[in-house]
Amino acid sequence: MHEHEKHDQHGTDGFETRAIHAGQDPDPTSGAVVAPISVSTTFAQDAVGRHKGWEYARSGNPTRDALEACVASLEGGRWAHAFASGLAAEDAILRQLRPGDRIVLGNDAYGGTYRLIDKVYGPAGHPWTAVDLTDPGTLDRHWPEGTAVVWAETPTNPAMAIVDIAAVAEVAHRHGARLVVDNTFATPYLQQPLALGADVVVHSATKYLGGHSDVVGGCTVTDDPELAEGIGFVQNAAGAVPSPFDCFLVLRGLRTLAVRMDRHCDNARVVVELLAEHPAVERVLWPGLPEHPGADVAKRQMRDAGGMVSLVVRGGEEAAVRLVERTRLFTLAESLGAVESLIEHPARMTHASAAGSPLAVDPGLVRLSVGIEAAADLVADLRQALDSLDAR
Ligand code: PLP
Repeated sequence: MHEHEKHDQHGTDGFETRAIHAGQDPDPTSGAVVAPISVSTTFAQDAVGRHKGWEYARSGNPTRDALEACVASLEGGRWAHAFASGLAAEDAILRQLRPGDRIVLGNDAYGGTYRLIDKVYGPAGHPWTAVDLTDPGTLDRHWPEGTAVVWAETPTNPAMAIVDIAAVAEVAHRHGARLVVDNTFATPYLQQPLALGADVVVHSATKYLGGHSDVVGGCTVTDDPELAEGIGFVQNAAGAVPSPFDCFLVLRGLRTLAVRMDRHCDNARVVVELLAEHPAVERVLWPGLPEHPGADVAKRQMRDAGGMVSLVVRGGEEAAVRLVERTRLFTLAESLGAVESLIEHPARMTHASAAGSPLAVDPGLVRLSVGIEAAADLVADLRQALDSLDAR
């Protein structure tokens, strides 16, 4: 396990600079300015146990190290670990639980996170409770007995609720539990959970970090040496590691994260303006709207409101399903966070596994991942699809 010190030579550089340089100094042997894709599975040793820092590629390799150093720097943490998917990263965190430990999960979260906790960790002896984490006071007063970890998304997927990270961290710590924040929607550019008190950050790097819908990956970042040790152990012992090529793709994505996020946010703002005044739309869920219940907290803990937008259409599930089939530029597909705009129906798609659970999604809800195309084209596309619903 390599420690990525906060105050390495890029520690005081700005976010955009670290995205391009942290972990990515020119290769000392060739001078290559792009971190080479190191495909070797094994590394020569001068004597038994005497090597240059790498022995076997599952345990670590130079390309993965570069990615981990960059992600650690961007999240402002000491240790990052990269995984083959966001869910593999989540699994490595959950494997730190002791027998019988309870999990508190926010009552709105990615369906796959719910499935992992309910269908894998539940039967393995970990009770769990769904809690509205937008209300830390109630969590404090009704703290579920035996909780070792609170698992929060903010903004949540797909209801776009905002969780006050500092407040929930304070409650969790007072009860002797750790706080995990899934920072996939916000990215470290918009939100820094570790600085707000979270114990570990988890990402689906498949989304904004990669940013181009061409790599599945995940990562964790923490400042807690015990957690880092445990997660690093699972990374090697269970082996759900990303390939060097996958690491290269995520690292390549990170280099433009800041500019992409600015554009995602700007485009989302323009799309939200249309949705807010369109008669076919009942509600718009985006934390940048002043009337959003989490607007104040979002302003405090986020640089901007992000590129994910949800809406509830008039006419319920039937209208929602028609809408997602009528856009031209917004492609009907699962996933999010890439340069191209996507639209989906969570109740039947990404969150189908949560049907009938406390995390079930409103069937009238449609989720947009607003891309970085020309904003006017995105607005025109949504307008024609909404107009066609004939809900006036
Ligand atoms: N967390 C969030 C918020 C997600 O949206 C997803 C996937 O959609 C995941 C985690 C899981 O990541 P992956 O699909 O890379 O395993």
